[in-house]
Amino acid sequence: MTNERFIPLAIPNVGDEEAENLRQCIATNWVSTVGPFVEQFEAQIAEVSGTATASAVAAGTMGLHVALIALGVLPGDLVIVPSYTFIASVNAISHAGATPWFMDVSAEDWAMDPEKLGAILAEDCERAANGDLLRKACGRRVAALLPVYVLGTPADMDRIMPLARNYGLPVLADAAAAIGGAYKGQKLGALADLTVYSFNGNKTITTGGGGGVVGPDAARVGHVRHLVSTARVGTNYDHDAVGFNYRITNLEAAVGVAQMAKLPGFIAAKTAIRRRYDAAFAGRADVAPFPDPGYATSTYWFPGLILSKACGWDVPSLCDALRESGIQGRPFWKANHLQRPYLDAPRADVSVSEEIWPRILTLPCSTSLSGEDQDFVIETLTRLLDARAG
Ligand SMILES: *Cc1c(COP(=O)(O)O)cnc(C)c1O
Repeated sequence: MTNERFIPLAIPNVGDEEAENLRQCIATNWVSTVGPFVEQFEAQIAEVSGTATASAVAAGTMGLHVALIALGVLPGDLVIVPSYTFIASVNAISHAGATPWFMDVSAEDWAMDPEKLGAILAEDCERAANGDLLRKACGRRVAALLPVYVLGTPADMDRIMPLARNYGLPVLADAAAAIGGAYKGQKLGALADLTVYSFNGNKTITTGGGGGVVGPDAARVGHVRHLVSTARVGTNYDHDAVGFNYRITNLEAAVGVAQMAKLPGFIAAKTAIRRRYDAAFAGRADVAPFPDPGYATSTYWFPGLILSKACGWDVPSLCDALRESGIQGRPFWKANHLQRPYLDAPRADVSVSEEIWPRILTLPCSTSLSGEDQDFVIETLTRLLDARAG
């Protein structure tokens, strides 16, 4: 039996407005890293973040890399990062010549666990004579904290920032899919020293590929913009640092400008999709909803289910069964202390990360998902779960 219907996990939602902006780029010949859409897009990113300025870059990973450098991370340093994140957060640390020091997430929000962070800083670190914070076990300098806003849900920054300040550590927030979200009613741009968004294809908004860097200190964001544009001084090939060619193009920004106008609608659609899944599977013993901490206005990047130990399925076989009905379900990130490049990286307790990652199933959540298609996903998944319940 063939099934014509295929419901993808998460696809971009682009249309006439994006096409018209791209046409303008071609018509005006502004296609590269300078142009009116770049400036307009940066102003929109700053506005939605509650900051004075933003630097748009060619990828979220690039934004993270340069942000770490702008925050003073040096080769040989350690950066404390939750193991449960997309590998790009961790790769950016490596790109800066530093090493990730893995810690855990809390079960309440899947983000950096403030209690465990406090214990690491108090018990596993010591102060050097020059004021540096060192990891006792290896004597390497701890240079920054990198909390991640998993699923578009901010980490509990009111508990993380005082620890960071107390220990003199700068904070880089990986807010990849969190653009437009909020923490206790505050926009996200000033919560950490620098905050990075991604505009890759499956993120809350997309520019094809792209990213943005914001922060409360306009001079620091200006430094990021300087570094990503080859650290150029003036117009005559003078450069004052080893810079990067990490700028977004006017073509990408043209798509971004159109997407930003749709952001509130996208978040509303994602929120409605998440609420429907949560309601449909509430009360089951074999699955649980994703976390939804009260302090967050999440962008609900991905909805899905956590399979409990009582569930008769594992995530890969459930995805296979869904696929037979024309539905794309997918596992989510693998904990990074288990990824091949990072098997030797230092780690504190990572037990929650290790326990949750194999049990997470993400479900179709394109902003264009129809109610009828979501009903079909819910019916199909309910039937599969029921068949193996009890
Ligand atoms: C997507 C993502 C990134 C990387 O962004 P790119 O734009 O793809 O480079 C980094 N961190 C997290 C948590 C992400 O989800």
